[in-house]
Amino acid sequence: MIITDTHTHLYSEAFNEDRKEMIERALDLKVRRFFIPAIDSSYTKAMFQLEKDFPENVFLMMGLHPTSVKENYKTELEHVKQLLLERSFIAIGEIGIDLYWDKSTLAFQQEAFRTQIKLAKQYKLPIVIHCREAFDEIFEILEEEKSDDLFGIFHCFTGTLEQAHKAISYNMKLGIGGVVTFKNGKIDKFLNQIDLKHIVLETDSPYLSPTPYRGKRNESSYILKVLEKVSELYELSQEEIAEITTSNSKDVFKV
Ligand SMILES: [Zn+2]
Repeated sequence: MIITDTHTHLYSEAFNEDRKEMIERALDLKVRRFFIPAIDSSYTKAMFQLEKDFPENVFLMMGLHPTSVKENYKTELEHVKQLLLERSFIAIGEIGIDLYWDKSTLAFQQEAFRTQIKLAKQYKLPIVIHCREAFDEIFEILEEEKSDDLFGIFHCFTGTLEQAHKAISYNMKLGIGGVVTFKNGKIDKFLNQIDLKHIVLETDSPYLSPTPYRGKRNESSYILKVLEKVSELYELSQEEIAEITTSNSKDVFKV
């Protein structure tokens, strides 16, 4: 059994004290594939170091996170473009729209999202979408940009069944994380109505810890709690869920 964490910020300063031990804990529990979303240029160095330390297990994305889209977003997008020229990445992410933290930057966020979708098409890479309180705004852009060569993951999916089907219709898989274990998380009510071929697992470490770690620092080994819950919901063994979701992650990332 190999478990794939399709979304984990292992380079975060939250792990500065014990990064290696924390990653070893996950590896020991068969969490062997870590997909690393970018945030902004301030983390690039730490991402490269992580890749150097765990070259077999770590796969880096490149992109500008919507909450890092500020007045200087064009400079940040130049950084993304430059790095894409210099070396290969596994995906463009995480990108999208976040209206929870800051609504005033919506126009910049939309522009950055569109630009990065175009980069994904140019480099034939998947996108990893961050959506917070912005389903309509995200779907509007996906509708404009949809095509056979646009695909990826709707990370930390927390919408309704209808929104799930809509995301899938744009060639997106649903990233299922700690929220599925929450009492009021809602997605556990309908998840098993979605074909497993559309599902990948993630932690979003260090954020969004699953129950019983809710509110504490999240880490990739806690994906076992997500696996356990998804296995209950689909009434399949954890081995089967791990195998299918790992295989789905290979379909998206091509590794
Ligand atoms: Zn993230």
